[in-house]
Amino acid sequence: MRPDLFEAPDYYNLDDLLTEEHKLIRDAARAWVKRDVSPIIEEAAQNAEFPKSIIPGLSEIGAFGPYIPEEYGGAGLDQISYGLIMQEIERGDSGVRSTASVQSSLVMYPIWKYGSEEQRKKYLPKLASGEWMGSFGLTEPDHGSNPSGMITHYKDMGDHYLLNGAKLWISNSPFCNVAVVWAKNEEGRIHGLIVERGMEGFSTPETHNKWSLRASATGELIFQDVKVPKENLLPNKSGLGAPLGCLDSARFGIAWGAIGAAMDCYDTALRYAKERIQFGKPIAAFQLQQKKLAEMITEITKAQLLAFRLGQLKNEGRATSAQISMAKRNNVDMAIKIAREARQILGGMGITGEYSIMRHMMNLESVITYEGTHDIHLLITGLDITGENAFK
Ligand SMILES: Cc1cc2nc3c(=O)[nH]c(=O)nc-3n(C[C@H](O)[C@H](O)[C@H](O)COP(=O)(O)OP(=O)(O)OC[C@H]3O[C@@H](n4cnc5c(N)ncnc54)[C@H](O)[C@@H]3O)c2cc1C
Repeated sequence: MRPDLFEAPDYYNLDDLLTEEHKLIRDAARAWVKRDVSPIIEEAAQNAEFPKSIIPGLSEIGAFGPYIPEEYGGAGLDQISYGLIMQEIERGDSGVRSTASVQSSLVMYPIWKYGSEEQRKKYLPKLASGEWMGSFGLTEPDHGSNPSGMITHYKDMGDHYLLNGAKLWISNSPFCNVAVVWAKNEEGRIHGLIVERGMEGFSTPETHNKWSLRASATGELIFQDVKVPKENLLPNKSGLGAPLGCLDSARFGIAWGAIGAAMDCYDTALRYAKERIQFGKPIAAFQLQQKKLAEMITEITKAQLLAFRLGQLKNEGRATSAQISMAKRNNVDMAIKIAREARQILGGMGITGEYSIMRHMMNLESVITYEGTHDIHLLITGLDITGENAFK
């Protein structure tokens, strides 16, 4: 892959709205991605390997639990800082951002929000430092968009719970030390359980042959009569609202992260268009290429403003799930369209690993599907504005 020459677009001077702390955090993450992620990420994706060597760096830039209080090892930052960190990481690669999102919002968040004080103290510092990595098991082979139908379940055996079932499409599963698993009790109510690697009957086979998110490890979580200690149940929230609360936090991060992928594609395409000469002039001088680039920067700017306002609302505790859905859907769709257009600007070079665009484009096919598909988020907005449920 070519040297990383990224320069972030800021067409509406959004930096003026950020605090000095926001900019410091963002710039530190940006510099880390340039130094430690860009040089290795193409090879990791080609080899379909999550680059574990970057785990300490992710922890250092605050990507594991940015908004988790410092007393539990988190960075104690606000939601806009969290968003900016996700933006910068996904500028490097959506797979790396996925690893950080899962660790922060799908593993640390439920332990922090729904866990006991003992669970917080036991797990959060190790997850914040990256000593332990986590995964989040909600999706099942027969229950994706409709997780309430899940069949993974546990029985109360007196001194422990007995867990059975299987989860599919689980990010970080092949190497996770702990998994936050959503399962039904004997009354059919959904609860979260912390399952640790090494528990008998728990296995995590890897899913191969992905053309997308290749630098992120994906796999299954299989539970065959796993004895889970009773103290591993998350005591403070149950029902589908519990995993959905985690997804709100992760989707918020994705709404920002997708901007990073789009910025990288735009910046690469703009530079290429200025340098590539055809018919005696730079292709940037042709109206058709200018249309693509002008529309890209317009859409990126709109997405930046949407994410920033959502961040303000989230900081105030006023962001609704439906508002988060709208931002996730809009910004990922924006990014995937920009990736496709940017790839065309690079012509044949666009399909190679010399540039990041094709990798972003393929990654975003997962991002537009996970954490609620593009269609599902539209239905959430539809339900919110009409009061009519079009899901079933
Ligand atoms: C790389 C990757 C990583 C992932 N990581 C995780 C993870 O860490 N943890 C986890 O729990 N899950 C994870 N997922 C799973 C992801 O969240 C699901 O793939 C997603 O929720 C969609 O479920 P599905 O694939 O079963 O599709 P389905 O639910 O079968 O949907 C198929 C299609 O039908 C549409 N559809 C479904 N229902 C409706 C409806 N009511 N009306 C209209 N259209 C509908 C969908 O929009 C979609 O287009 C991951 C997925 C991928 C690809």
